[in-house]
Amino acid sequence: MSKTLLVTGGAGYVGSHCVSALLDQGHRVVVFDNLQQGHRAAVRAPAELVVGDLADKKALAALFATRRFDAVLHFAANSLVGESMQKPFLYLGDNVQNAVNLVDTCVAHDVKRFVLSSTCAIFGEPDRVPIDEDVRIAPGNAYGESKYLIERILAWADRIHGLRYACLRYFNAAGAHPDGTLGEDHNPETHLIPIALDCAMGRRPHMQIFGDDYDTPDGTCIRDYIHVCDLADAHVRVLDALEDGSRHYNVGIGNGYSVREVLDSVKRTTGVDFAVKLAARRPGDPPRLVARPDKVMRELGWRPRYAAIDEIVATAWAFKRAHPQGYGRGALVAAA
Ligand code: UDP
Repeated sequence: MSKTLLVTGGAGYVGSHCVSALLDQGHRVVVFDNLQQGHRAAVRAPAELVVGDLADKKALAALFATRRFDAVLHFAANSLVGESMQKPFLYLGDNVQNAVNLVDTCVAHDVKRFVLSSTCAIFGEPDRVPIDEDVRIAPGNAYGESKYLIERILAWADRIHGLRYACLRYFNAAGAHPDGTLGEDHNPETHLIPIALDCAMGRRPHMQIFGDDYDTPDGTCIRDYIHVCDLADAHVRVLDALEDGSRHYNVGIGNGYSVREVLDSVKRTTGVDFAVKLAARRPGDPPRLVARPDKVMRELGWRPRYAAIDEIVATAWAFKRAHPQGYGRGALVAAA
């Protein structure tokens, strides 16, 4: 059934791919984004873009007063592990307060379905890997803590107000839409794959590896890289499942790659051998984060379509080549 959906942060990386998937399903989508990290050009038509900030409760109330949303998908957040260890209150303050504003507005306007973009960072240094939903929650950085606090806020909103919610704990979102029009464009960029692709394009002199003395086979950190369209598919599926109650899923492909393995994949995919230097560990980085996605597969019938790292990198490379300077450049070309 076609729904009217509010997507906060729908102009951002994961949000914009989800908007695209939701439109493909025939839903009506309103994006609410302050365009701090998001891009107008990433909001695919016919989604409507409302520029605004979640800190502004009046703007939220006005938005909800003029439209009747069947569900809210909440992506908008500060989301950098490294930054969260330097500016914790951007996370424990802003991320959490903005979520409270949004959930409170949902409750006030009787919107009873909510999907949260959560993170595997809530597990910190997990006591077992691969990580299923029963692993102990113990965030190792302020970003993960902020998302866990929001998960708890939703649990109370369910208990007291009957808000049905889903928390999707993402592992490492990567790749780009296969049609080449949507992709990753952060400023500043901090993520491994886009930085490595910049090195391959000659836009950075070298790559840094943040620590090679972790307790992993090659000493570098291992992550579960999940294609952003596979993540988007999990959101589409969970919306229907919400009718049967609130739920949590760990969403990754169940395979881990080390930093060195990812860099090898980027070199293979691009055919460019760029310089790599060793640097200090980045505070808050756990050695190994890999999902056990059995629950999301079993309950939602979800399967990753992109299982190999080279396939994921290839889509990110196609976007990078089409938009070497990100969306800004694309928009200039389109306007010329
Ligand atoms: N990383 C790195 N060099 C970089 C960027 C990232 O070695 O220039 C490492 C980082 O320490 C982590 C992994 O790559 O172990 C993935 O980092 P990313 O920032 O992409 O995602 P995160 O795991 O922080 O969500």
